[in-house]
Amino acid sequence: MTRPPVRAIIWDFDNTLVDTGARNLSVTRRIIRHVTGREPDDFAPLRDQAAYDQTLHETQDWRELYSIHFGMVEHQIVAAGRLWTRFQRTDATPTTWFPRVTDAVGQLRRFPHGIVSLNTRANIESTLERDGLSSAFTSVVGCGDVPRDRQKPDPEGLMRCVLALVGEVTATVIYVGDHPIDAECAAKANDRYAATGRGVKVVSVAAFYGTKASEECWPVEPRFRASCPLDVVRIVDEVSARGR
Ligand SMILES: [Mg+2]
Repeated sequence: MTRPPVRAIIWDFDNTLVDTGARNLSVTRRIIRHVTGREPDDFAPLRDQAAYDQTLHETQDWRELYSIHFGMVEHQIVAAGRLWTRFQRTDATPTTWFPRVTDAVGQLRRFPHGIVSLNTRANIESTLERDGLSSAFTSVVGCGDVPRDRQKPDPEGLMRCVLALVGEVTATVIYVGDHPIDAECAAKANDRYAATGRGVKVVSVAAFYGTKASEECWPVEPRFRASCPLDVVRIVDEVSARGR
């Protein structure tokens, strides 16, 4: 069967578009101190960047991180979640776009672009605004836009973004992400589309330039691997050519 044409590009945010590792560690350390009253260094995953990155890639999401590794109970996790955007706004740790990632978005501007992330939409939009890139992304789906029990790897956020970008037409959509749950999310979206007879196919691309996950720890194999952001342009061209 011929694959429908590529109609949209969707990106994860943290460590796919923007190198946010240092900022997220700094904010998490401040949140832990604020909510638990304990020193961040009491917790092994917060002692340095490598430990934080490693732990993050072994957990599904921040709730699991806060529960398992910081021993938080539900009301503390809720309090921590409320602090995220405010603490992000007041944190001076720089975040930078990966080299050439905005070139890749520019070279693919014939497609609408979206972002699906476990970060908050407010935080993502403030980064886009800061760097004059708001108009480059048509749809941003953050963690607050999706019910708590349907966060990635559940495909709901991704499918909402697909609908916002391409409507009801048949389409191939590229989803680029650095975390194993991003590839898992793409696979679950494909299962859902297949079950409902909707003519959408999501092609997952692992952002290996930003990932902290080793080669082995991808329970769902991504369809492609990008070792630099411009690889995404090549992959989109390849997928487009094959579809014809
Ligand atoms: Mg990410």
